[in-house]
Amino acid sequence: MTPFKERKSDRRRFLKIATLSATGSLAGAAAINRISPALLPEELVFDANQSLWARALPPAHRPLDQDTETEVAIIGGGFTGLASAYYLKRSGWKGRVMVLEARRCGHGASGRNGAMLLTMTEDRYMAWSGDPALDKRIYDLTVDNIRRLQALEAEFQSDAEIDPVGALQVCNTVEQAEQARAFAEKARGAGLPVEFWERDQITEAVGTRAYPGALFDPHSGQLHPGKLVRLFQTAAEGEGVEIFENSPILRVAPGDPARLSTVSGKTVKAAHVILATNAFTSKLGFLRSATVPIFEYVACTAPLSDTQLDSIGWRRRIPFNDSRTEVFYLGLTRDNRIHIGGGPTDYVFNNGLSVPPHSGLRFARLGEELRRIFPSLAGVQFETTWNGLVDYSLDGTPSLGQLPHTPNFYYAIGFSGHGVNLTSLFGRILADLVRGRAADWAWLPYLNRLPVYVPNEPWRSIAVDAATWYYRWSDPKAP
Ligand SMILES: Cc1cc2nc3c(=O)[nH]c(=O)nc-3n(C[C@H](O)[C@H](O)[C@H](O)COP(=O)(O)OP(=O)(O)OC[C@H]3O[C@@H](n4cnc5c(N)ncnc54)[C@H](O)[C@@H]3O)c2cc1C
Repeated sequence: MTPFKERKSDRRRFLKIATLSATGSLAGAAAINRISPALLPEELVFDANQSLWARALPPAHRPLDQDTETEVAIIGGGFTGLASAYYLKRSGWKGRVMVLEARRCGHGASGRNGAMLLTMTEDRYMAWSGDPALDKRIYDLTVDNIRRLQALEAEFQSDAEIDPVGALQVCNTVEQAEQARAFAEKARGAGLPVEFWERDQITEAVGTRAYPGALFDPHSGQLHPGKLVRLFQTAAEGEGVEIFENSPILRVAPGDPARLSTVSGKTVKAAHVILATNAFTSKLGFLRSATVPIFEYVACTAPLSDTQLDSIGWRRRIPFNDSRTEVFYLGLTRDNRIHIGGGPTDYVFNNGLSVPPHSGLRFARLGEELRRIFPSLAGVQFETTWNGLVDYSLDGTPSLGQLPHTPNFYYAIGFSGHGVNLTSLFGRILADLVRGRAADWAWLPYLNRLPVYVPNEPWRSIAVDAATWYYRWSDPKAP
């Protein structure tokens, strides 16, 4: 038998070694996390936008071809960049405002998305946040933004195919349908007009019988993303905004003024800089730990014939998304094409921008899901397929504001696949921030908060892979 004294000192020695090795591992992990951005510089790549929506983009603007100075430089010509430029000038801002876009406006997510025009934010959409009064205020704000988009469409007589016909979030299981029913009741109590729909109601509206229940939001809808980019370009230029395309910014040196350098060696000095670069923001050295850029895939059919349309029975053009974490979403365009996006996603090491080689498998999965939802489309092929980067924050919460140590830099990030409507609202708020009107938006929980911290490589890939594996394992399977 081991004497008691010796056993006690053994245990102490063991605890000491365990504590030292745990502390050492943690310190090592933290050190790797700290130095990894310096060891692994991120690559700036812009692939071609192959989407259906890109066909509606107007001819390219000229690139920036000389050194210049401006009061406001906006990097990125997606919805966020173009809307902030437009609203800033529209508010009476006298100074020069320029948009610098790496490729074409709408090159990023704004020209590649699933076209669902949604109320709310990703973290609050069809979800209970615990603060019904705030939820209602944010809901009303996002509904109001959809009306503003329609007003802009009317003012500039530029049809962006905005159809606020409502949107469905369909449930994949009976259990989820029961939860949705309870949510709808609670939401209505809080003043949100969300409805619970039974299977027959879903079938009557969109044809499929694949889902046992759904939540319907009457104020959401759909639009043509390429045409909305075009509308914002027209509106911004009408107010005097200058747009430069094919002008990628390579480096940004903060300061007052900040100095922006293009790939072709031109310099822009700017008093204010709006980072409207979404999933590409980390490439400029900002907000590296804010979001994870995830590849999503979308596929679209040619226009369906009347017979094909009749066979599926999608009578009301209501877009819908399902209730999986790796969500599928579908829409029916005005020219009768069906587009389906989502499903399995991809993350590329070190926020990589090179499209994963197995994207063919992703499109095949979209085809499989389309045939499951609408079996009568068994022989229909996709005419167009594309990918896009989504800037996911860890909790799905978007953020916007002024950077803590460089307040003449403004950002909006973390839309998490829910930005078609929200980006132009946030663009309007960014314009207010530049004008010194932050107090008007102090109530908004997304203002001047930074998203939940995302660790650097290699921990980022490990965490994303683990989360993806978990979602694939736990998401409801096709019945
Ligand atoms: C596949 C997919 C499906 C989606 N579906 C939906 C949906 O159905 N509904 C919904 O609400 N949301 C959806 N989203 C999300 C939504 O599209 C985005 O939240 C929104 O478009 C983001 O707009 P943005 O202007 O902030 O960013 P982006 O549109 O990505 O614009 C950023 C721009 O910055 C440019 N840029 C980047 N770096 C530089 C640089 N260094 N120099 C110059 N320019 C630069 C890029 O070229 C790009 O044009 C989807 C996104 C994707 C990818």
